[in-house]
Amino acid sequence: MRTSTLTLAVGASLALGLSSCATGVDAPAQDVPPPDRAKNVIVLQGDGMGIAHRELIRLATVGQDAELNMDRLEVAGWVHTDPADPMETVTDSAAAATAFATGVRTYNGAVGVDAAGNPVPTLLEHARDLGKSTGLVTTSQVTDATPASFASHVLDRDDQSEIARQYLEETRPDVVLGGGEDRWLPPGQPGVWPDNPWTDPTEQSAGTAGDLVARAQELGYEHVSDRAGLAAANSPKLLGLFANEEMFEHRNEGEGAIYAPSVPLRDMTAKALDTLSRDDDGFFLLVEEEGIDEMAHHNNAHLTIAAGAALDATVGVVLDFVKAHPDTLVVVVGDHETGGLAIENVSDEDESGEGDSREDGPFTVAGTELQFTVDWTTTDHTGAATPLTATGPGSAALEGVQDNTGVHDAILAALH
Ligand SMILES: [Zn+2]
Repeated sequence: MRTSTLTLAVGASLALGLSSCATGVDAPAQDVPPPDRAKNVIVLQGDGMGIAHRELIRLATVGQDAELNMDRLEVAGWVHTDPADPMETVTDSAAAATAFATGVRTYNGAVGVDAAGNPVPTLLEHARDLGKSTGLVTTSQVTDATPASFASHVLDRDDQSEIARQYLEETRPDVVLGGGEDRWLPPGQPGVWPDNPWTDPTEQSAGTAGDLVARAQELGYEHVSDRAGLAAANSPKLLGLFANEEMFEHRNEGEGAIYAPSVPLRDMTAKALDTLSRDDDGFFLLVEEEGIDEMAHHNNAHLTIAAGAALDATVGVVLDFVKAHPDTLVVVVGDHETGGLAIENVSDEDESGEGDSREDGPFTVAGTELQFTVDWTTTDHTGAATPLTATGPGSAALEGVQDNTGVHDAILAALH
C-alpha cells in the first residue's frame, strides 16, 4: 500500500504557501519527516566483522592516516552478540541476523523465528507493510542466513529453497541480488551457472522446490545472471543470481581461494539503490559482505582484507547516495566476530605454525614500509562484541553498548 498521493498533496499545498501555520491546522503528513524518522533504511553487514577486522581492513587499505568510509559515520557503538541457544554460547549468522531483523534472541540456525520456533515479523516486512520497497543484496547465496533472516521464517537455515519460495510467494522483496542459483533449480537443471565448475566441482543445482527462477518470472521478477544483464535491467522487481553458491571461493590461502565476485558488491548495491529509490514511500535495503566471515573461517587474511575493502567501497556508494537523500538511516555492523583475529608486530620469536590459528602475513600498512602479522585464534566464530557505526535519522539511538536486538529496536523506531 502506498501513501505517496497524500504526501504529494500536502507537498503541493505547501508549495502553494498553504502551510499548516497559515491554515492553523495540524498537517497529518509532511514532506520533511521529524529528525529521528527515516524514509529509507540501509543496513550494511560485514559478516564476521569484529573490531580487529575493521582495523585490519583500515591498515591494509588506507593506512594509519586515513579512515575507512565505514569509520566516517558519526555514531558509534558496540553490540553484544549472544544467541539464546540451549547448547552454544557463541552465535551463528542465523541467530545473529534474526536478532537484527526481529529483535528477538534465538537459537543458532533459526531464521526469522524465536527460540520456540514461532515466526517473528522482520524489519523488512515492517517496511513493506509501510508501503516501502525492499531489497536484499549479498555476496553469499541470496538465501543464506543473513538475508534469509530478514525475509523468511524457517526453523533451519539449511532450508534454502523454502527460503527462496517464501521470498517469492510470501515476503516479496523487490530486489534480490547475490549468489545461490543452485538453490533455485532442481537437480539436473543446471541453469545459467553450470553444474560442477572447475572452481568448485561440488556445486550443482540442488533445489527442493521446483524451478523457482521460472516461478519468479511468472510473478513479475526480471531475472538476470551477469553484470551486463544487471546494468540493462529496468524492472522494479529484480532477481539477480550471479553464482551457483557464494560469489567467491572460500578456501585456505593457496588452495583455490578466490575473491572476485562476477558483479562487485558495490555495483549490486548501486543498482538496488537506483531501483528501490524510485518508490516515493522509501525503502529498506539489507547489504551483506559474506566474504569477511568465510575467509576468516579459513584464516585467510589476504582475502578477508579483499572482502572488507569491497564492503568499504560499498559503504562509499551508500554515503554518496545519502548526500542526495539525507532522510536515510545507514547502519554498518558485524553480526559476530570470526577467527579471533589479532594484529601483531612481526616477530621471529612469536609462535607461528601450521593449520588452525597459524600466523598470516606479513602485510604492509598502506603508504608505509611498516609491516604486521595477522594471528588467528580459531577457524570459528567468537563471542566478541562487534562494532557498529551509523548515520542519519534515528542513528543516535544506536550509540553506546547494546544487545544485537537493540539494533532492531532502534531501526524499527526510525522507520515511518
Ligand atoms: Zn561464519
